[in-house]
Amino acid sequence: MNSALNPDQNHTMATIRKLPDLLVNKIAAGEVIERPASVVKELVENALDAGATAVRLAIEDGGRKLLRVSDDGSGITQDQLLLAVTPHATSKLQQEEDLFHIHTLGFRGEALASIGAVSHLRISSRVATALEGGEIYVAGERVEHQGLVGCPVGTTVEVRDLFFNVPARRKFLKSAQTELGHIQEQLARLALPHPDVEFELLSGGRQLRHLHRSTDPRQRIRDLHGDEFLDDLLAIERDEHGLRITGFIAKPGQNRISAAGQYLFLNGRYIRDRYLQHAIREAYRGLLEPSRHPILYLHLSIDPEQVDVNVHPTKIEVRWQDHNLVYSQVLSALREVLLQHDLTPAMHGRRAEPPLTGAEADEQRRRIADFFKGYVPSPSPAGWPVESSPTTIAFPGNSPQRSELALEFQSPPPPIPGTSFPPITEAAPPVIQLHRTYLVTETPEGMLVIDQHALHERIIYDQLRQRIAGGTLESQRLLIPEPVSLQPAHIDSLLHHEELLARLGIELSTFGPETIAVNAFPAMLNPAIIVEFMTDLADRLLEASHAQHTEVLIHEVLDMMACKAAVKAGDPLTLQEMATLIEQRHLIEKGSNCPHGRPTSLRFTLADLERQFKRT
Ligand code: ADP
Ligand code: MG
Repeated sequence: MNSALNPDQNHTMATIRKLPDLLVNKIAAGEVIERPASVVKELVENALDAGATAVRLAIEDGGRKLLRVSDDGSGITQDQLLLAVTPHATSKLQQEEDLFHIHTLGFRGEALASIGAVSHLRISSRVATALEGGEIYVAGERVEHQGLVGCPVGTTVEVRDLFFNVPARRKFLKSAQTELGHIQEQLARLALPHPDVEFELLSGGRQLRHLHRSTDPRQRIRDLHGDEFLDDLLAIERDEHGLRITGFIAKPGQNRISAAGQYLFLNGRYIRDRYLQHAIREAYRGLLEPSRHPILYLHLSIDPEQVDVNVHPTKIEVRWQDHNLVYSQVLSALREVLLQHDLTPAMHGRRAEPPLTGAEADEQRRRIADFFKGYVPSPSPAGWPVESSPTTIAFPGNSPQRSELALEFQSPPPPIPGTSFPPITEAAPPVIQLHRTYLVTETPEGMLVIDQHALHERIIYDQLRQRIAGGTLESQRLLIPEPVSLQPAHIDSLLHHEELLARLGIELSTFGPETIAVNAFPAMLNPAIIVEFMTDLADRLLEASHAQHTEVLIHEVLDMMACKAAVKAGDPLTLQEMATLIEQRHLIEKGSNCPHGRPTSLRFTLADLERQFKRT
């Protein structure tokens, strides 16, 4: 080679060598085995491929110390055990063409070899025709022992001290709680498409999950995710053009802040796919706020020849032969079901969530009013002028109907010297509410149509932003701590954001591996939404990368809070509430940084109207 190709490097020419097998396998393991949950995936897939009807998982220390998977499947003959742990040895592909007809979850013949390269691996197994089972023990890929052993039909794979010889990976592992969370999530992805297989998960000897066999796929969902939204699941069933789609989708009222509630399976394997994601988004368009995600469990079956699953080391992504078919079939299957159920779409101005009861709504408003009580605007943030009334959603104190309203009114605090406040208009322009969603009012130039939720949300967001800039939000201590069940990984993510929680006025304590107790909650939020809010918050924090700045996160959370605290589409408003909302409008009007990216109001000038009526 010409050294001129590498002018900056004058080190001695390296010799090309074939990598030692151990290194090759460590590199391969790096692709497939990222954390204990990846081991669970590979071992349970093997058990399912072996036709198991029951799979038991036992873990210690989040899988770092021990991960054991036992099945009652076909087993491995004693003379094949060594092959099973050899790289690129598989019983699932016999000839090249098989690669294009994959009917099994595994086929690359890498998993056991990879795991053996980075742990202490023991396999014992017996086939039904053998009287005795075989056993093999591999440590960092060296076969330490092989022999006969008494064991039931089936296979037990034990993985100890994962990454004992890859310190970089071991360091990268998170707390036992977090790893356990990933394992639970992995188990859900494996168990959902196989309701006919029993699963058990033990951690530190304690049974965390026991998923019974059932012919009803809803039972599996219930066992994994509780029955909170079970009644809101709509069944999907479609079989056209060689693509079978089954499963359940949640009504739009049940939704999440991230796509974490979306389970997509292709031929029994959990996948991620942008075409499917796009089709889902499209199907729910107009039924959900753009920032919300539906919950669903979709199982697709297609001839394995129609899809290439060999494009990703963990097979989580696929390549479709005809992605248009997949897109259009999924879109129409979902649309059909959603339309059949005559849901109350948000685009028709009716709420997609169950309405708060009168008392709840009153309580909510009281809190908002309390929150803004005594509020004095801070010096104008980021250079936009505050030249408005300091009151926000609390209403003028001299209202004659004051006592009839379920709101606590307040008098506007005295103006801050040096700033000018336009008086709260005595002769307020007329306002009407349309479809309990839009406010229409007159302006000097013409008329204004306001989205009541969007506007209120904006106002609250701006107020929250100013408040938190000065420290923390007011908090209310709960008389009885509110328990919230969450996945361990979600709990972990909450506990990792102590500072953020403190600034929001949220105080937690742990209550068990899957429960936290909320002791204090932001004063402006209705405690009735604690569970919903904490679930969303945990979702959001889990998604946040570690690099994400607390400040940025806080503003996203404020955004979430504002959305929850604001009046909704569908909420009836009193005349006074409407007037105040409109009054507050100019508070945010000058801010160009709309956090939600959609307009809060539409403006029609007289000229527009005249043109429409052909007066000009
Ligand atoms: P792959 O699953 O891609 O074939 P693995 O390394 O995961 O590769 O497994 C290698 C082989 O070991 C499999 O092809 C299978 O024959 C055998 N094997 C592994 N786990 C089990 C099990 N639980 N039951 C029966 N056979 C198994
Ligand atoms: Mg495998």
